[in-house]
Amino acid sequence: MFVALRENGEYISLVEKWKRSDLLELRSNESFLCPACLSKVQLKAGMKKTHHFAHLRGAECSVKTEPESEYHLEGKRKLYRWFQGQGYKVQLEPYLDEISQRPDLLVTTEDKQYAIEYQCSQIDYPLFKKRSDSYRNKGIVPIWILGAKWFKRQSTYSVRLSPFQWLFATSFNQPFQPSIHYYCPDTSTFVKLSNLQPFTTSETFCTIQFHKENVHTFPKLLAPNQPMFTYQSLWVRKKYKWRASYSVYSSNQIASFLSSLYQYQIPPSHLPAEAGLPVRSAYWFQTPPMIWQMWMVLDLLLPLPIGDTFFFSKAMEVISKRIASNNITIRHLPLIFHTQYSLAVEEYLDLLVKAGQLKKLTQTIYQKAREPHIPANLEEAYNMDLALIKRLEIVGKNEEVGMVKPNIGG
Ligand SMILES: [Zn+2]
Repeated sequence: MFVALRENGEYISLVEKWKRSDLLELRSNESFLCPACLSKVQLKAGMKKTHHFAHLRGAECSVKTEPESEYHLEGKRKLYRWFQGQGYKVQLEPYLDEISQRPDLLVTTEDKQYAIEYQCSQIDYPLFKKRSDSYRNKGIVPIWILGAKWFKRQSTYSVRLSPFQWLFATSFNQPFQPSIHYYCPDTSTFVKLSNLQPFTTSETFCTIQFHKENVHTFPKLLAPNQPMFTYQSLWVRKKYKWRASYSVYSSNQIASFLSSLYQYQIPPSHLPAEAGLPVRSAYWFQTPPMIWQMWMVLDLLLPLPIGDTFFFSKAMEVISKRIASNNITIRHLPLIFHTQYSLAVEEYLDLLVKAGQLKKLTQTIYQKAREPHIPANLEEAYNMDLALIKRLEIVGKNEEVGMVKPNIGG
């Protein structure tokens, strides 16, 4: 950390330019305290690493435990300057007594406060949630930024995301699609992932944007996502590969999935095209879309005679049961408040309506219109995936056009 308490009760910040000899002299004359837990801290003024304070070995801070690497210190320092450079009122490591929190930065604008947490080391879900909730309860918007060392690109349009990285998915307390943010102090670059569309448990399709800090601004960082890019054919090609190989990776979730397919005499690679569609809010599901959607086909659609109806609540019941029996896993997303996984379920049913599988009779009642077609081989599966996704895309486009049409009727 950069800020400590001096013996005279004043704060001292090492983020300013200090001569090493001055710091060494200061260190020999007085001691320093952590402003949060008030335990003694060491002034580290080495030759290589950024000057900073650290708790004594073995004495953990009761408020914050992030081990501060050079990368972390440098990132925090640069982010501090970045906000300052834009004229924001920004405090470095202020201790917020009421909630016993010490954000890396606190930015105060005309109408809001933002706690900036620059996180480079892994922390667990309960701690992440506890910290985020305490800010939120005080009306402070938490902005968690990951150290860019965590950024793992997998292809032009996809990244690898661990459950830890998913914690950072945020819409800044707004009803936006979530995004994930990184900052790299070595290259002075922000990375933004948006339109997050999980394909498997680890691989997620998304829009990846790089912003150099000298041309990036705080309002731009907070801005909602760009429109969805088109990756349909990429999705279908990936799905083809996935179909051919997923069943060889054994896990408990896959085992019971495969045995259910077996009961319906569906070979693992012959899932109908309707299982594995990109759904806007699918980020709620840690289980791949092919699998959670196929559970809906197996548990809800296949047993239902054509023409029969069901309520939306029935679809939720089906999913809830699979969650309870660990066949489907929901993500922990402590920074997303405006949606629930039920939205993804609803969006999926709406896609099935567009695909012609279902009819929507009322706001909450659906009717089965036809049987899902089980492809005869991998080739047919691929062609059906492609045809369906293109068709849904066309449907989506027409809707957009319809939406922007000015209402000149009446
Ligand atoms: Zn402390």
